[in-house]
Amino acid sequence: MPLQTTTSNWYSEEHRLYTESVRKFFASELTPNIERWIDAGIVDRGFWVKAGEAGILGAAIEEEYGGAGAGISFDAITIYEQARCSDSGWGFGIQSIVIHYIRAYGTEDQKARWLPKLATGEMVAALAMTEPGGGSDVQSVRTSAAKNASEYFINGSKTFITNGQTANLICLAAKTDKDAGASGVSLIMVETDSLEGFRRGKNLKKLGLKAQDTTELFFE
Ligand SMILES: Cc1cc2nc3c(=O)[nH]c(=O)nc-3n(C[C@H](O)[C@H](O)[C@H](O)COP(=O)(O)OP(=O)(O)OC[C@H]3O[C@@H](n4cnc5c(N)ncnc54)[C@H](O)[C@@H]3O)c2cc1C
Repeated sequence: MPLQTTTSNWYSEEHRLYTESVRKFFASELTPNIERWIDAGIVDRGFWVKAGEAGILGAAIEEEYGGAGAGISFDAITIYEQARCSDSGWGFGIQSIVIHYIRAYGTEDQKARWLPKLATGEMVAALAMTEPGGGSDVQSVRTSAAKNASEYFINGSKTFITNGQTANLICLAAKTDKDAGASGVSLIMVETDSLEGFRRGKNLKKLGLKAQDTTELFFE
């Protein structure tokens, strides 16, 4: 049963209208499926596409890249409304982080390549920082990305990666200069469809967040 909550004082009329439409969408497409997704250990891939069609995935993405151009506060409402349904499985919070990395740091070509597909659900994003050796200390990642002409060769493994079974666009923290400390860590965008040397490990069993696909990833 959804939590009874008050509306935050920063909500505009647009925020309120968006909240209503997200609530309706979640009531028909998310809440009835939560138990099934918990049993499966993963959210239906088709739910991402439906959320794209409902305008949820692209709410913050600029109109020129297929979104509504409404800004990050609308993603906050999506995540708030998801929590209100007591769902912890759908990994949109992570996809939202990746969307905003691309918006902030991507080139025009990169924005045009990835944002429209993230808005429709054709692409699902993951953020891969944590490694078997540790998660908090990101500057110590061991996964390396070595550039050769126009390609990066990635070597290493990641663990506890949300959306790990589903994602086909991975924002990966890797060492591009092993002598430069934190400045030697780069975010590499990896398109995984038919990517040679990329392998997903098992969907990890957890005490909570059971419908979330949390996974090891291998780059060899
Ligand atoms: C359900 C789930 C989903 C996750 N999804 C993702 C994801 O999508 N992408 C991703 O990259 N990672 C993900 N993670 C990993 C998560 O980010 C890491 O678990 C977290 O960063 C901590 O890393 P660690 O578990 O390796 O612990 P460690 O970094 O080894 O830390 C162990 C303990 O030591 C403490 N500690 C560490 N350093 C210090 C310090 N300098 N001073 C004081 N205390 C310290 C920590 O607080 C912790 O209690 C996920 C984890 C879970 C459980």
